[in-house]
Amino acid sequence: MDCIFCKIAAGRVPVKLLAQDDQLLAFPDIDPQAPVHALIIPRRHVESLKTVDDFALLGRMHQMALHISKQAGIYDSGFRTVINTGLNGVQTVLHLHLHLLGGRAMRWPPG
Ligand code: AMP
Ligand code: ZN
Repeated sequence: MDCIFCKIAAGRVPVKLLAQDDQLLAFPDIDPQAPVHALIIPRRHVESLKTVDDFALLGRMHQMALHISKQAGIYDSGFRTVINTGLNGVQTVLHLHLHLLGGRAMRWPPG
């Protein structure tokens, strides 16, 4: 399968692991949009939020995001957790991932 996150999960593309368990991996985003920008992914290929078949997976992903927020020192200051879905959601990697962003105040809309 030609999926970059599957390759990362298979250890074929090296990343700095921030956390892992039997189902999930977390690593820094290659193009960080905040001082702390981590991605939490399932090890097995799930294309997007629309194809999640076990919603407990989303709970586990958020639990890992909380763990990383503590590790990265942004638990108290606050952070965003984001899942982009589909074309208008600007999902560029078609393997489910939860963004964890923090480390500075973020405004919406950006700019
Ligand atoms: P999204 O727009 O929600 O699909 O976000 C995909 C994210 O994956 C982007 O923020 C990319 O910077 C990030 N990304 C793509 N390839 C890699 C990689 N090899 N390692 C880490 N992050 C990546
Ligand atoms: Zn994949």
